[in-house]
Amino acid sequence: SLSPGRVFEISAVPLPSGGALAVLHDVTRIEAAERTRRDFIANVSHELRTPLTSIQGYVETLMDDPMPDPETTREFLHIIQRSARRMNRLTEDLLTLAGVESPDYKLFRQSIPASALVDDAVASMGGLVSDAGLRLDLDGAPDDKVMADPDAMNQVFGNLIENAMKYGGSGGRLSIGARLLENAVEFWVRDYGPGIASEHLNRIFERFYRVDKARSRESGGTGLGLAIVRHIVQAHGGDARAESELGSGAAFYFTLPLAEPPTAL
Ligand code: ADP
Repeated sequence: SLSPGRVFEISAVPLPSGGALAVLHDVTRIEAAERTRRDFIANVSHELRTPLTSIQGYVETLMDDPMPDPETTREFLHIIQRSARRMNRLTEDLLTLAGVESPDYKLFRQSIPASALVDDAVASMGGLVSDAGLRLDLDGAPDDKVMADPDAMNQVFGNLIENAMKYGGSGGRLSIGARLLENAVEFWVRDYGPGIASEHLNRIFERFYRVDKARSRESGGTGLGLAIVRHIVQAHGGDARAESELGSGAAFYFTLPLAEPPTAL
């Protein structure tokens, strides 16, 4: 239908009678995809340009005549190093995202107990959490088996736990767990920090969306972590979401399908 908000292209088809037929093509979806692509490229360029500009500026100052004193030189080199690391993290996350968004993304799924995935996450992230002076509580996890690629799940838990530490660390503790639903297992990572206002809850899974840009940058964030999480989970046939109450923390949930449907009683 010719409803407002839709985008059409017109082409003329010649008719044998000598006239022409005007054909309307609905290109609304193509147009939207094109806009998403443009926004994404603009975002990537901007994100890369910020540290690059800083590197260029400090290198130029270091090459000034006379050269800055050794202490200033050191300080500038540190800033350059930080910016280079930032660009490195960004390109790494972009490659990961491109990988998980690709139609060729291959999962190596196996039937694995939900509890084993949680244990793996604790084994690989527990040290970092306690080094940061935070407590990591285990809320329990069922032994029911899910279909999951353990490496991909490690990335999912890693991103969620890193975020919980970065943004919710003030709460002093994190918790992780899983529970059995009807046809899936639901996993979570929870923190007890400031939380996320409801208007941001869905948007934070978008690429480059951050509630507080400066805060994210400062803590080494790229704005891609949750986009990667959602893509990996969806590739597994599950879904990811966030819940939060301002002031009492944020919880990130994702589901994974059961390896075998539960047997009817
Ligand atoms: P980033 O690299 O910025 O951390 P993410 O995609 O991982 O990117 O997260 C997007 C944004 O979601 C973050 O910038 C932050 O504003 C918000 N966020 C993520 N996790 C939490 C959390 N546990 N508590 C509060 N805010 C969070």
